[in-house]
Amino acid sequence: MIQLHNLHKRFHDLHVLRGIDLSVEEGTTTVIIGPSGSGKTTLLRCLNLLEVPSEGTLELAGHRLDFRSGQKLRQTDVIALRQQTGMVFQSYNLFPHMTALQNVMEGQITVQKRSKDAAQDKALKLLDKVGLRERADMYPHQLSGGQQQRVGIARAMAMDPKVLLFDEPTSALDPELVGEVLKVMKELADDGMTMVVVTHEMAFARDAADRVVFIDQGVIVEQGPPGDLFERPQQERTRQFLNRLG
Ligand code: ADP
Repeated sequence: MIQLHNLHKRFHDLHVLRGIDLSVEEGTTTVIIGPSGSGKTTLLRCLNLLEVPSEGTLELAGHRLDFRSGQKLRQTDVIALRQQTGMVFQSYNLFPHMTALQNVMEGQITVQKRSKDAAQDKALKLLDKVGLRERADMYPHQLSGGQQQRVGIARAMAMDPKVLLFDEPTSALDPELVGEVLKVMKELADDGMTMVVVTHEMAFARDAADRVVFIDQGVIVEQGPPGDLFERPQQERTRQFLNRLG
């Protein structure tokens, strides 16, 4: 579903991603872990071109893009790629003046050009799936952070993405609300959604990931199934990182 080859990202003279090679199989969950500032979010944002890679190749759901520094991206490529991906942000980013239902309908109507009825139908099904059917008419400020994030997940799903990207989806939440969001994510993973998740929730990585990717200083140091990476890390840097987590 996703192939990255020698991907680099520079912010002026800051070389953040330094040659990333990564494959993500369809229907799998990949969890990206690593120290703060190592480039995890930047990597995730490169996958839907919220950041434009400086160099390298990105292939996602059959769309292939080659990047060279200074080159302008074609808008059609950006749109094509964005249509294949859904993004769930740390800070939910719901529209505050719209109900949960309207938030999940909005992109379907404006971007997908679905009819209002079809959009509503799908939005209600998705709100049901994330356990919020009965809160469909509430505004974001009437919902807890965990509920808002579940609406955020339903909204991303409403666009029928091939890949769901999660950028630290639980790190803004009070601890008691983290579990309900992770539970929804685990269900999506079990349903066979292709997901790439940046998170500090190691229990989720152990439980839900098919692959865990450890990034440090802009390179993939080590990757593998969670059982291998957590129990038998091969690299000293991975061991140090995991030991610090305790
Ligand atoms: P992580 O997600 O692993 O904490 P990030 O990908 O957020 O790391 O950031 C990696 C590095 O890139 C950091 O040094 C950060 O300050 C820098 N960075 C991220 N986004 C930008 C940007 N838009 N402009 C300049 N520097 C950035």
